[in-house]
Amino acid sequence: MAETLKRAGIDFTVYEKADEVGGTWRDNTFPGLFVDVLSRQYEFPFQPNYDWSRKYAPATEIWVYVKKVARDRGLTKFIRFNEEVVTARFSGGRWHIETAKGNTDIADVFVCATGFLHRPLFPDIPGRESFSGPSFHSSRWDHSVPYDDKRWGVIGSGASGVQITEALAWAGCDVTQFIRRAQWVHIRDNPYSTWRERLKLRLPLAYQREQRRLWQLINAGDRWRLEPGAQREAMEREYRSFLDCIKDPELKRKLTPDYNLGCTRIPKSDRNYYEAVQLPNAHIVKGEIARIVPDGLVMADGATVALDVLVYATGFDAHAYMRPMAVTGVDGTTIDEAWKEKIYSYGGIALPGFPNLFMLYGPFAPVNNVPVPLGLDQEIACIMGLIAEARARRAAVAPSVAATEKFLARLGAAFPGTVWVGGCKNWYTSRQPNPVLWPFPQSEHKAFFEAVPSEDFQFTSTGSGD
Ligand SMILES: Cc1cc2nc3c(=O)[nH]c(=O)nc-3n(C[C@H](O)[C@H](O)[C@H](O)COP(=O)(O)OP(=O)(O)OC[C@H]3O[C@@H](n4cnc5c(N)ncnc54)[C@H](O)[C@@H]3O)c2cc1C
Repeated sequence: MAETLKRAGIDFTVYEKADEVGGTWRDNTFPGLFVDVLSRQYEFPFQPNYDWSRKYAPATEIWVYVKKVARDRGLTKFIRFNEEVVTARFSGGRWHIETAKGNTDIADVFVCATGFLHRPLFPDIPGRESFSGPSFHSSRWDHSVPYDDKRWGVIGSGASGVQITEALAWAGCDVTQFIRRAQWVHIRDNPYSTWRERLKLRLPLAYQREQRRLWQLINAGDRWRLEPGAQREAMEREYRSFLDCIKDPELKRKLTPDYNLGCTRIPKSDRNYYEAVQLPNAHIVKGEIARIVPDGLVMADGATVALDVLVYATGFDAHAYMRPMAVTGVDGTTIDEAWKEKIYSYGGIALPGFPNLFMLYGPFAPVNNVPVPLGLDQEIACIMGLIAEARARRAAVAPSVAATEKFLARLGAAFPGTVWVGGCKNWYTSRQPNPVLWPFPQSEHKAFFEAVPSEDFQFTSTGSGD
């Protein structure tokens, strides 16, 4: 967003509550974290990277890349670090912004690029504070804790839990993973890239060919999530076969999911998680945790597990979006009030009643079937078009209630038959009927944002131009 605003010659400020860029990739530094889409799909379209070390890059490499983009593009000078926005109020046709330091600003347009997996979520287990050893959330890894001679506990079977357990197990640590429900895990190869491949990418024609191949991969590979059929059955057979390397039938039973493939975001394993948990130093405990005690965990069946370090791989409050920031739209309506009954948006980017407020990857953005940088690029192009129109009309823009309802109804009608409905609890689901994600293919995401009709939006005069 910053790069696009810079290119458009628009005056802007980025507020970042941390002291560095990188978001997810700055905060999540746990062992075993690799990107789950192809590294080449995790590039900003305006800055190719020819030098990814592996097919799926380690998290540190993504962070280095994001920092390089900010530096190369001269973006850091627009960023006010250590500046958390705590309130934003639309009044008199403009946004009044206040930060935790008490600084205030006025802006015509307010963009929330606050991330959808950002606020750590802790389980509601009694006794959490009583644990006597080091304990931390996966997104706040404590690198001062030595790995050796410790009994590690990892709570959670999502992507972070799987990658951490696998990494600790192969590192020879005594690790116990506590799971309530088994996950489908993608056991994949993650080869290093060769110098020949890196060199080839630098040739314009080869690069364009590779870009076309990636585009086809994105569009062809994911039909199985959207509709039943042979592709879905073949995928499920393949994933079941990954479990065949588990020798102990009891362990295999524990790790066999009881819901349809793809319903949750699929953890990716680069060093065979199923082999890792069969090492003598690795253990799986399945069931509810009754309470946390100073030296370990007590399970609901009364079993106790002694631990020295406890890791909460328990995910994020995925439905917080820009909150706890207090955002107030027209007529004093707050975001909490607007989303009290259900979380909604128009296209994941805007909300009725909140003029000139845009979200990047807000509710119903494609969190599961489109690489995030690509989805962002499409959202940003659309937002820039709306900003340009609003400026030209000296107005503030917001989607109409009717257009938003129509958008949500279209989504609602698309969920039946997709992998996301029925059978599992995941971070896309909420207290509302449908999961909060984009239930169409990537091609439709592009088409949607390329043809957003102006009639879906209301332009209210602000009386000011630039
Ligand atoms: C462990 C993990 C692994 C992931 N792996 C993948 C993957 O493999 N592939 C994939 O496509 N996606 C992955 N994701 C999703 C990932 O979050 C997105 O791909 C991407 O990083 C989102 O970028 P973002 O800039 O929108 O949000 P974020 O990276 O979350 O950045 C948001 C930024 O906003 C700042 N901020 C938030 N609130 C405020 C405020 N009030 N004031 C000031 N600053 C604020 C934060 O400090 C942060 O720097 C993963 C997420 C996690 C947590």
